[in-house]
Amino acid sequence: MGGILAYIITNDCIMCDACLPECPENAITAGDPVYVINPHLCTDCGNCAEVCPTEACVPIDDEE
Ligand code: SF4
Repeated sequence: MGGILAYIITNDCIMCDACLPECPENAITAGDPVYVINPHLCTDCGNCAEVCPTEACVPIDDEE
């Protein structure tokens, strides 16, 4: 079982802004072409994944 280290945002991101206010660590910033999560700030809380309309916030599995 691999440990989850952080969430990442995939290219399914439509830059809707839903996740930005939900991140308690302010780990999410507007990148190019999609939003980006700073893995050093992310605490794996999953808030962003809950609000993302396109399921673009996904956990990284360190087995992959
Ligand atoms: Fe922020 Fe939580 Fe998403 Fe990590 S999992 S980027 S801490 S909202």
